[in-house]
Amino acid sequence: MRQPEVNIGVVGHVDHGKTTLVQAITGIWTAKHSDEIKRGMTIKLGYADGNIAYCDSLNPPEAYTTEQVCPDGSESRLLRRVSFIDAPGHEALMATMLSGSSLMDGAILVIAANEPCPQPQTLEHFSALNIIGIKRVVVVQNKIDVVSKERALENYREIRRLLQGSQIEDAPIIPVSSLHKVNVDVVLEALYEEIPVPERNLAGDPIMLVARSFEVNRPGTPYKDLLGGVVGGSLIQGVLRVGDEIEIVPGAKVPVGKTSYKYQPLVSTIEELRFGDLRVKEARPGGLLAIGTNLDPSLTKADSLVGNVVGRPGRTPPVVDSLTIQYNVLERVVGLKELSKMPPLQQKEMIVLTIGTAVRVGTITKLSKDHMEVELKEPVATWPNFRVALSRRVLGRWRLSGWGIIES
Ligand code: GDP
Ligand code: MG
Repeated sequence: MRQPEVNIGVVGHVDHGKTTLVQAITGIWTAKHSDEIKRGMTIKLGYADGNIAYCDSLNPPEAYTTEQVCPDGSESRLLRRVSFIDAPGHEALMATMLSGSSLMDGAILVIAANEPCPQPQTLEHFSALNIIGIKRVVVVQNKIDVVSKERALENYREIRRLLQGSQIEDAPIIPVSSLHKVNVDVVLEALYEEIPVPERNLAGDPIMLVARSFEVNRPGTPYKDLLGGVVGGSLIQGVLRVGDEIEIVPGAKVPVGKTSYKYQPLVSTIEELRFGDLRVKEARPGGLLAIGTNLDPSLTKADSLVGNVVGRPGRTPPVVDSLTIQYNVLERVVGLKELSKMPPLQQKEMIVLTIGTAVRVGTITKLSKDHMEVELKEPVATWPNFRVALSRRVLGRWRLSGWGIIES
């Protein structure tokens, strides 16, 4: 079995069937599970690895399958290994969705046909895809089994109107019943055609964005049997091998005196590399990678290292606590039923930046028409030309409001 090659985010309004669709494709239910530790990364990241395979004895779309064996008994041909990242649909988790979107090479936008489109998080996730710059999108028009043909067609037109004028205007819209596994083969064909494996920079210094960190020891494990902490995320360039030295930046928060603290970079050896249950000696970009370290697991537990960057010692991106950003704000506030106009940004306004998997609160210290300087509350490891999402507090909660490019 080879490692996953491409990451596909699954986004859309709560209850529209994202988790059911991922299960229809991969057989894995990504939602919270009582036995979290055993299943480790898979559940923690809300992701599932699956196969797109092909039966040469059949014609497309029927030829596309997730199975190893074709209906006529012959073996299918594995075309691609895919990681599906199941984004939480609840609006409070928009920041999670945004930080997850930095891991996506493409996305499935799930829209249930039995509700008017767009629903609030449909619109919010759709805007997020545009903002983060994800252009490879397949739309799944789900729950087709519970609507009339007329409603399905009307919903199709609603979706086309939503996409009109956007970067993903021509995305395919595929009618599906995830529950009854109808048209899953058409979805597989569309994913294969529309979301190719991006060209990866294997020769560059390895850089991994940390999306989760945890400890895998059960309570009461004897000291000598304790395993080191685990960091999980997406390797965006380079290659990592078991035995390699890594550095994690900005690192762990350590107290200085009684009232303040600083960040301490962490250095470790890679003890283990895995993609879900698949252990590998060498990892390349694609899929969600878990690195078993020899760090004290108390340093990694409870997602304490989310937003860090893993690299080679001395070759990690710079750690900064202020940023100059070339920014754009949306014209309207996303996610509100009545679409209200975006108020102008203010000097000294507090904003939230999503920088890869890092979510940082900051204060605008300098503001012009298209540039801002932001003083961050906590440092971040990043580099120029990185794309960031900008959220503002509008009408009582943080709302996705714009995007920017880091200049320095
Ligand atoms: P999520 O919140 O987007 O992950 O949605 P879930 O996958 O948890 O699905 C929400 C509900 O919709 C569940 O009760 C599913 O069984 C149901 N559901 C999902 N897909 C379909 C479908 O294609 N047809 C029908 N009738 N129900 C579906
Ligand atoms: Mg779900």
